[in-house]
Amino acid sequence: MNLSVLDIFKIGIGPSSSHTMGPMNAARQFVLTLQTQGLLAQTTRLCSQLYGSLALTGRGHCTDQAVLLGLEGAAPDTIDPDLIEPSLARIRSTYKLHLLGSHEIAFNEPKDLQFHYSDSLPGHANGLRFIAFDAAGNELLRDEYYSIGGGFIVRAADHNTGTAVDTSPVVPLPFSNATELLARCRDFGLEMYQLVQRNERSWRSDTETRDALLKIWHTMEACIERGFRAEGLLHGSLALRRRAPRLYRQLQEAGGVSPMHAMDWLNVFAMSVNEENAAGGRVVTAPTNGAAGIVPAVLAYYRRFEPGASDDGIVRFLLVAGAIGMLYKINASISGAEMGCQGEVGVACSMAAGGLVAALNGTNEQIENAAEIGMEHNLGLTCDPVGGLVQIPCIERNAMGAVKALNAARLAIRGDGTHKVSLDQVIATMRQTGLDMKNIYKETSLGGLAVNVIEC
Ligand code: SF4
Repeated sequence: MNLSVLDIFKIGIGPSSSHTMGPMNAARQFVLTLQTQGLLAQTTRLCSQLYGSLALTGRGHCTDQAVLLGLEGAAPDTIDPDLIEPSLARIRSTYKLHLLGSHEIAFNEPKDLQFHYSDSLPGHANGLRFIAFDAAGNELLRDEYYSIGGGFIVRAADHNTGTAVDTSPVVPLPFSNATELLARCRDFGLEMYQLVQRNERSWRSDTETRDALLKIWHTMEACIERGFRAEGLLHGSLALRRRAPRLYRQLQEAGGVSPMHAMDWLNVFAMSVNEENAAGGRVVTAPTNGAAGIVPAVLAYYRRFEPGASDDGIVRFLLVAGAIGMLYKINASISGAEMGCQGEVGVACSMAAGGLVAALNGTNEQIENAAEIGMEHNLGLTCDPVGGLVQIPCIERNAMGAVKALNAARLAIRGDGTHKVSLDQVIATMRQTGLDMKNIYKETSLGGLAVNVIEC
């Protein structure tokens, strides 16, 4: 399947691409299938079952809410975040669901939304099963899905079977790893962003791609701004206070005298996005929600601090960062439930590092070097969210990832692109490390900080 940069950068809602956006997409897809097969009108009961990581950290990641809203037809990119709470309150107080917004059925939450904490579906740690029944209790339709990271879903029947119908367009300059990507750039005399842009023409014109990427940036920018203004506690058992608004005020008042000024801004840009994500706000997957702060923070740094920063630079950044995200998606995974946090924050760091070098007009080899450094020093990073919430360590970790991405870009751009460890080698290492990692460190909240920090 060929990927577009707009598959990597998707406008959605927090707090999790794999645990919120993916399940919402899966629930909606199931009900759309009921409708397509002419079974919707006969449906009187619908049972949703969550497995593996979706059960273990689902409540903290709002998976239950996402499924209910998806059954009612909501989609992550169009749902109004302000309508989420009232919709859930209506469903839970009336004990009624409106499938696709119209077909009313009874809803008994303990029976119809099940968390299977001890079981997993065979193909992936994030599994969902949906079963529709008619009035006589006969099963009308049953289907299983996996939420495979970044909001992507796949039907279990199609997962790793090669039976899925590939409807993605053919691209003129395909690449499946970084070596091929660099070689194609060399062969055709293209900057990396130009190669990606040519492939994007299989989906839309250059003008449309540019407009879409600038919309992605403006959505990221708006998220940063909202996070600066929002005050108070984030929802959930940790009662965590938002820090971005205060940090922002401090930076405004301090002026630009400290040598660490730019780093302070990187921190606040990233934390602002991830506090908004934790609050269920409008964010962009980059490549996931848990790691959504790193690319916007480095882009905002570029806009604020790099002389000559421009919209063209932002487009170059996002084209290249998107291509780097594709390399991880093709050759490893961007799911914390499969790879630990190296697959989320590590990948985002790698994408942002390469993207920044592209924005600064570095060479293709320097881009590859920056992306490699960005991952090499995140290898082994575990996922152990306290209380199953995308808050600790996630919010601060995005600030650390953004700083690391900037450092990786600076190291690479001061070199000539030659280096020992290739991006392909580091991606393969991340994949192997993720496979070797114990499940307790893969978005289950059964190990690490999640068991050593007491919620209060
Ligand atoms: S620890 Fe990392 S991978 Fe896990 S939920 Fe937080 S950001 Fe996502």
